[in-house]
Amino acid sequence: MSSDKKYDFIIAGTGCAGLSLAMQLKRSSVKFSKVLLIDKDLKNKNDRTWCFWTKEKNNWFDEIIFKRWDKFSFKSNSFEKEITLNPYSYLMVKGIDFYAFCLNELRADSRFEILTDEIKEINTKDTVAVLKTKDQTYSCDYLFNSAFRVLNKKPKHINYVQHFKGWLIETETDSFNAECPVFMDFSVEQYNDCRFIYVIPYSKTRALIEYTGFSKENLKDELYDGELKNYIENKLNLTGYKIIETEKGDIPMVESDFINPFGDRVVNIGTAGGSSKPSTGYTFYFIQKNTKHIVNQLENGSQKLVSPKRKKRFLLYDKILLEVLDKKEISAKNVFTALFRKNKIKHLLAFLNEESSITEDLMIMNSVSKKHFIKASIKKLIN
Ligand SMILES: Cc1cc2nc3c(=O)[nH]c(=O)nc-3n(C[C@H](O)[C@H](O)[C@H](O)COP(=O)(O)OP(=O)(O)OC[C@H]3O[C@@H](n4cnc5c(N)ncnc54)[C@H](O)[C@@H]3O)c2cc1C
Repeated sequence: MSSDKKYDFIIAGTGCAGLSLAMQLKRSSVKFSKVLLIDKDLKNKNDRTWCFWTKEKNNWFDEIIFKRWDKFSFKSNSFEKEITLNPYSYLMVKGIDFYAFCLNELRADSRFEILTDEIKEINTKDTVAVLKTKDQTYSCDYLFNSAFRVLNKKPKHINYVQHFKGWLIETETDSFNAECPVFMDFSVEQYNDCRFIYVIPYSKTRALIEYTGFSKENLKDELYDGELKNYIENKLNLTGYKIIETEKGDIPMVESDFINPFGDRVVNIGTAGGSSKPSTGYTFYFIQKNTKHIVNQLENGSQKLVSPKRKKRFLLYDKILLEVLDKKEISAKNVFTALFRKNKIKHLLAFLNEESSITEDLMIMNSVSKKHFIKASIKKLIN
């Protein structure tokens, strides 16, 4: 094994969080001379599509926003509404555009070195962080980790996943409202579970249709395929469509904490750093906020970097919703329908982005079944 190579920072994992941090570091006033980015994957495939809502008008990734909508619709059997999102926009970024944009910019900056290799180990040794691959050891002042996710599971914790499979389909004639994605369509069979469909229109003839569930485990592949086919052919009444791409994945929705056993020179980011919201799985927006927070700490010359902490009340709300979903005494479809039917969208979106005031939180809570939510709250507070 060759001797240590020393960097200011190492970014372990160049997915959403690693690249977001690197791009914000590049644009910051932080003084550094060498950053190593390392991933086992080349990041040259369109392996995911990110959708999220924001009020921000200026984002560092504005150039690669593929779609920006000012409304979306919510559907269930009893309620259907097209909702104007002002002051929010619903945005879509394609994985491949994001990776290519970031990697091109970072490659053009001699301070960043990008390496494709498998990381075997990360840890802290005295006052430096150390990363080992099969043949090489690298060290740095701070290492940002999104490659290793360590979940501290406890028996009482409710740990779910948002699991999904999507087909990007193309039709010969105009079939989709390109101006209005379907955020959640709960009018599908629920199977005593939480199941819904996203319809993300790329154009009038192209859309990503995603069958999604919130539950303890993913479904078998053929179940997603059957539900997608059923929805496209019997709800959207489309025939003769072509499947252009598929997207499959899951996102942790967990009550357990992602922990850092790697020592104080390692800072976890992305899902590994707790950026996936436990009650929804939405992550992209929180990654942007959290990586910005880390860059701000560096700009302010902080001696000890820390992963941003979530406000305790939002942690509690997420635990309560997971408890309600898990108990199944009230259907998830009814909970989400009440949230969208009874609240102003700007309050609900602020609440889900953890930016609402306590008064807004109380209004949101008042809109769902008190009996079930109070019971779940008492249980979580006692635990
Ligand atoms: C298909 C899909 C769609 C999603 N859609 C949305 C969405 O619409 N909105 C939203 O908010 N969130 C979404 N998410 C959730 C979340 O935004 C993404 O998972 C996001 O990519 C998480 O970023 P991350 O950096 O934490 O992890 P990743 O992007 O997965 O990056 C981790 C990186 O670490 C690398 N790595 C792992 N182990 C090693 C190793 N041993 N050595 C070297 N490299 C390693 C991996 O190759 C990977 O590149 C989606 C997730 C998936 C899977």
